[in-house]
Amino acid sequence: MRTDLAIYVMAANDINMEAFNEFKLYFKKYAIPYIVVISQTDTVSEIELVQIQQEFKDCILTSIKNGMGIVKLKEVIVSKLKEEEEDKPLVGDLLPYGAKVILVVPIDSEAPKGRIILPQVQCIRDCLDHGIKSYVVRDTELEAALKEIPDVDLVITDSQAFAKVSQIVPTSIKLTGFSLLMSRQKGDLELFMKGIERIKTLKPGNKVLILEGCTHNVSHEDIGRVKIPNGLSKYVGDKLEFTYIAGQDFPGNLSEYDLVVHCGGCMLTHKTVCNRAHLCEEKGVPITNYGMVLAFLSGTLERSYEIFKDN
Ligand code: SF4
Repeated sequence: MRTDLAIYVMAANDINMEAFNEFKLYFKKYAIPYIVVISQTDTVSEIELVQIQQEFKDCILTSIKNGMGIVKLKEVIVSKLKEEEEDKPLVGDLLPYGAKVILVVPIDSEAPKGRIILPQVQCIRDCLDHGIKSYVVRDTELEAALKEIPDVDLVITDSQAFAKVSQIVPTSIKLTGFSLLMSRQKGDLELFMKGIERIKTLKPGNKVLILEGCTHNVSHEDIGRVKIPNGLSKYVGDKLEFTYIAGQDFPGNLSEYDLVVHCGGCMLTHKTVCNRAHLCEEKGVPITNYGMVLAFLSGTLERSYEIFKDN
């Protein structure tokens, strides 16, 4: 699941279609990009090489003996890896150049000392990259900022302040959360929305898996370990059974869970979060994420999802 690129090598004189087709299914299942390399091309005739190229359209023909295709292979590896690194913008494709965005960052006891968290930093950078004007305020200054800044296109808030912020921002201005933007960039927003539906049918005692993408998540601890478990249990009317997994681990006993709630995934790649989400889908286990659960529990999900409907 964590492979960025697969290189499938077959010797020109030993092509095994059956084995290749088996791996092709595996690459497809886990969304792993791959390159087909045909080695030892010096051991077969020109006619055989043409036939191989017809069979494997984008393959790279190589030979250590005469140096054939080695430079090309290096170039293709670099360009494929580059493609994989590029994440979708957070807001750059949702708003036009010159749009105005207010970012709401509550500075409370849960805020890390002397800095702001990665999703907020990434959002500011994305606005700068796309010529979107961003204004950063605390929730306590939001009302004044809305009066001072005309024609605001979008307000983006920390998920924890959804309820308060949605009361301050007039319905004529679009509102969403950093976590929802991350969900779209890192995961599968539609699949996460389906996961929210499962919350409505949860019963006391049902098993919920909380998946955190990294272990150094002190600032999020309260969301994943306290706020979401408390909020979901309160919604269901009694206690649910929670399991927490942080880091790259993914449980083998996935089918035992009634719901998976993933963190924002700011330290993970789009592919990793999507693979996790699709594995859950394959096992028939609904998956959603922190920001969407918080927005759902505070009754603001519908409004914060609005911005994504036309995009
Ligand atoms: S990867 Fe997940 S747990 Fe780690 S900092 Fe990002 S949102 Fe928090």
